[in-house]
Amino acid sequence: MGIPFVDLKAQFRAYEAEIREQIDSVLQSSQFILGPKGADLERRLAAYVGAKHAFGCSSGTDALLLALMAYGVGSGDEIITTPFTFIATAEVIALAGAKPVFVDIEPGTYNIDPLKVEEALTKKTRGIIAVSLYGQCADLESILKISSEYGIFVIEDGCQSFGAARNGKMSCGFPQVGTTSFFPSKPLGCFGDGGMVFTSDDGIANRISGLRNHGQWERYRHRAIGINGRLDDLQAAVLLAKFPHFPAEAERRAAAGARYSVSLGDVVTVPAIAPGNTHVYAQYSIRTDRRDELAAHLSENGVPTAIHYPVPLHRQEAFAHLGYGEDDFPVSSAVSREILSLPMSAFLSREDQDEVIRQVLRFFGK
Ligand SMILES: *Cc1c(COP(=O)(O)O)cnc(C)c1O
Repeated sequence: MGIPFVDLKAQFRAYEAEIREQIDSVLQSSQFILGPKGADLERRLAAYVGAKHAFGCSSGTDALLLALMAYGVGSGDEIITTPFTFIATAEVIALAGAKPVFVDIEPGTYNIDPLKVEEALTKKTRGIIAVSLYGQCADLESILKISSEYGIFVIEDGCQSFGAARNGKMSCGFPQVGTTSFFPSKPLGCFGDGGMVFTSDDGIANRISGLRNHGQWERYRHRAIGINGRLDDLQAAVLLAKFPHFPAEAERRAAAGARYSVSLGDVVTVPAIAPGNTHVYAQYSIRTDRRDELAAHLSENGVPTAIHYPVPLHRQEAFAHLGYGEDDFPVSSAVSREILSLPMSAFLSREDQDEVIRQVLRFFGK
């Protein structure tokens, strides 16, 4: 048995009775869509992140799309984000009919560089999607300051950072909107696709509540063009069973990451945690200019790895129409060549952590 990259099987075994009980209660009630489990989950997670409202969504992608729709984003608008993220962040901007405007990342945290944001502002800029990549918050104070100065909105893409804190505030709970994903391998995952959008803005909350349900605020009265963007109650039930264990899991992930960093800091670039941040390590990602050789060595020795992300978005065919050049975002491009994610989960045993560390050190002759 090799080391699992994300150990979902061990997690299921640990909570199996609670998960089955929650699922069974949905099956008994036959309330599958916009039922009591979803509402209960929304209340609990809103309280956890410190937001006034939460809306379960069909995915993290739809949570982002709904946030843009709630702000009325469309043709002629520009939304600023980084090219070093999962495609969904920028895909929804284009889906909403707007133009993604990329700015480069900070070399330490791989999150959006607030100084670069100011340079990219135009009269058409409507908002910023700040991704809290790998599990630590972006510099949201600086981004929110720009947003209030220029009258534009901020969405935190917290699809990887649910459970992380920044200066005592939880990811997804910052003003104005935060979104997360419950894709199975995310820090808090369900058994399929799911996501959530959080806000403390009553107006935006009201828009999202109808937009995620076909633009209905009242049954069969469609006041706006919406989507089928709801989280179903079976997924909410799984999350209700897992959530009580989540804070302890986040601590175990952070502890595993800290052990990696102490042991590997001499041979590779380990994740830099910005002052005031905690890290949930949705991905534990190191950097080395011998990335591909290291990945091959680890694979041969039973240690799975992944690359998040090998091709920055400005070089993706889907965004060729934006007209960016290969060399436009040098930090993003350099990081995409050197980044490598190691096995990480709350159920990664100490022995497996030691084996990962041993194999990385062995590659570097240590
Ligand atoms: C996973 C992810 C998404 C999309 O979430 P889905 O639930 O897979 O749709 C968006 N942004 C980031 C940064 C992600 O990691």
